[in-house]
Amino acid sequence: MIKFDNYIGGQWLSPQQGHYLPVINPATGAVYAQVAASTAEDTLSAINAAQHAFPEWSRWSNEDRFAIMMRLADLLEARSAELALAETTDTGKPLSLAQSVDIPRAIRNTRFFASAVLHVSSESYQQEPAAWHYVLRQPLGTVAVISPWNLPLYLLTWKLAPALATGNCVVAKPSEITPYTAHLLGEVAQQAGLPPGVLNILHGSGPALGKTLTTHPHIKAISFTGSTQTGRILAQGAAPHFKKISLEMGGKNAALVFADCDYENMLNTLVQAAFSNQGQICLCASRILIAESIYDRFRADFVERVQALVVADPMLPETQQGAVISAAHQAKIMGYIAQAIALGGTIWCGGTVLKMPGRCQNGFFIAPTVIDGLEPMCALNQEEIFGPVVTLQPFEDEARALALANHTPYGLAATVWTRDLAKAHRMAAQLDAGLVWINSWMQRDLRVPFGGMKQSGLGREGGWDAWRFFTEAKSVGVANA
Ligand code: NDP
Repeated sequence: MIKFDNYIGGQWLSPQQGHYLPVINPATGAVYAQVAASTAEDTLSAINAAQHAFPEWSRWSNEDRFAIMMRLADLLEARSAELALAETTDTGKPLSLAQSVDIPRAIRNTRFFASAVLHVSSESYQQEPAAWHYVLRQPLGTVAVISPWNLPLYLLTWKLAPALATGNCVVAKPSEITPYTAHLLGEVAQQAGLPPGVLNILHGSGPALGKTLTTHPHIKAISFTGSTQTGRILAQGAAPHFKKISLEMGGKNAALVFADCDYENMLNTLVQAAFSNQGQICLCASRILIAESIYDRFRADFVERVQALVVADPMLPETQQGAVISAAHQAKIMGYIAQAIALGGTIWCGGTVLKMPGRCQNGFFIAPTVIDGLEPMCALNQEEIFGPVVTLQPFEDEARALALANHTPYGLAATVWTRDLAKAHRMAAQLDAGLVWINSWMQRDLRVPFGGMKQSGLGREGGWDAWRFFTEAKSVGVANA
């Protein structure tokens, strides 16, 4: 059986207490590997290794850091097929999705931040006649990167790449549920010649490692993506230590569909927006709000397309929907569906666990589900389900659409569907969401600030925001002689 050990100080180390956790393939339900169940001792080793590597790594020239990170990206690309297979094995997502989205984006993240190193500059200010000022943006030291299971390598590299490019050393904690590609990333880092200790990969359960990672004085910043619940625990742990913290958390994203939209484009994109990765993307449109005048037509057409989605073994090329991440998550999603029924909602399609034939007979599959007839304030319209479940609600006018969209504790993303650009911009300005897409979904430009409002996030990632997060600004004032 495969064993995932920690990668600390350039070495593969078994956890100091010798314990491992099972890793399950969600498509088959079978344990296929064991992952280190690290403890505080392993966390301290990783922090020490990073501290040891920092003085040298932070002195590397920008050109040298660029070169080694580009080598890392090239090696990831050379191992793309293996990485995509590993991602599918860990997550149950269609192999075609891992091949077309997860792994290419991980490579792009690495190249984007590596090359940014060559183009950054910092500010200077003339204060005539007395002085001038310039700003140094210096690496922080050792930073912790904590990532979730839904887009494992994609989100890990989204954080790692800017952290490393700005000269920090990293202790990375991937989700214990999906350690495979992080393990391969350790191999690639070693192959690329990244100095020992610059990148440390620490496996294990979040609650077991969280306290040390959030409170240790050598951890200067924590970049986290995951649930709002865990984000709250991290924020509480880190606050008394005044650590820099970036939290990318859950969402309950609304799609606002107006009658004057490009109907076909909207329909095709919303099926993707709702169900990509089995609805397990923080940006998925899980609440679709539709103008009353086209509500019945939309529901019929949408349900027809959702019913046509191919749910099957993620390894098959025709599969559009794979397994959800775990038995526990499957049960949680089915609990929400049961609640919808109890509340008098109508299940237009899906609503059931799917039994697959052959090797996937014990996998965790759910039929893509569309529900309407629920009150806006019920749990299904307020809480993040993070699965293949979408609710529909009608609206009479712009004001009602906005009220429905904004009335949740979350504020990550929204989409607006209309040909009326004035209306689209009006909606964008008033939506409580860190990301708004007009007539599209998940159109990502890595330079754009990424993150959520309200309980969806604290801070922004991407582009300059990532640069600022992973550096300390130091203002130097020089008297004019
Ligand atoms: P979790 O919050 O459960 O876990 C995220 C990471 O935090 C995992 O590595 C987890 O480790 C770790 N963790 C858990 N508890 C602690 C703790 N006490 N201290 C330190 N680390 C801890 O999220 P999921 O993995 O379930 O991911 C799904 C969530 O992520 C959804 O809410 C989704 O919306 C959100 N997400 C947000 C995105 C965004 O950009 N806003 C993007 C993608 C997902 P372990 O797995 O070992 O417990």
